[in-house]
Amino acid sequence: MRQVRSGDLFGRGPAVTSATTRRTEPRTATADRVVASVCPFCAVGCGQKVFVKDEKVVGIEGDPDSPISRGRLCPKGASSEQLVNNPLRQKKIRYRAPYATEWADLDRDTAIDMIADRFVSSRRNGWQDVDDHGRPLRRTMGIASLGGATLDNEENYLIKKLFTAAGAIQIENQARI
Ligand code: SF4
Repeated sequence: MRQVRSGDLFGRGPAVTSATTRRTEPRTATADRVVASVCPFCAVGCGQKVFVKDEKVVGIEGDPDSPISRGRLCPKGASSEQLVNNPLRQKKIRYRAPYATEWADLDRDTAIDMIADRFVSSRRNGWQDVDDHGRPLRRTMGIASLGGATLDNEENYLIKKLFTAAGAIQIENQARI
């Protein structure tokens, strides 16, 4: 009867919605503003619309204006709101010393100094100047780089430049593995 009275003859509209459904509205409908962005997860670069309310990200959807993805996001891209809002997100630098059983917090400058010290000493310890026949190698086997798919072009460019200048030859990216 509802279908006939409301004109929703196929039962796909108001005839089959409950009061709860009618009261429910998506988080995106109440956002203060929408920011165009690009999914950071992989090299496809799908367009995203980021919905912001009270200066917090409340939802992320595919951007129909993107010529790359035309409004679509894969499950990883569709859940990227969790990159910002997940309560398990790590916001501090964590360090577990050799033989330690617990993790500890490190401040940023200390962590950067520790990484730089290890980088320099590993490079030096793994340095190969010449091969067994005296032919020049001028490389190090002590350091390598393995990038992740969320690195962008500029970051990959700088990483490649830094590691090649330091003499590393093992420079890879997760996207090629
Ligand atoms: S939505 Fe999926 S396919 Fe698109 S950029 Fe993000 S991770 Fe890659």
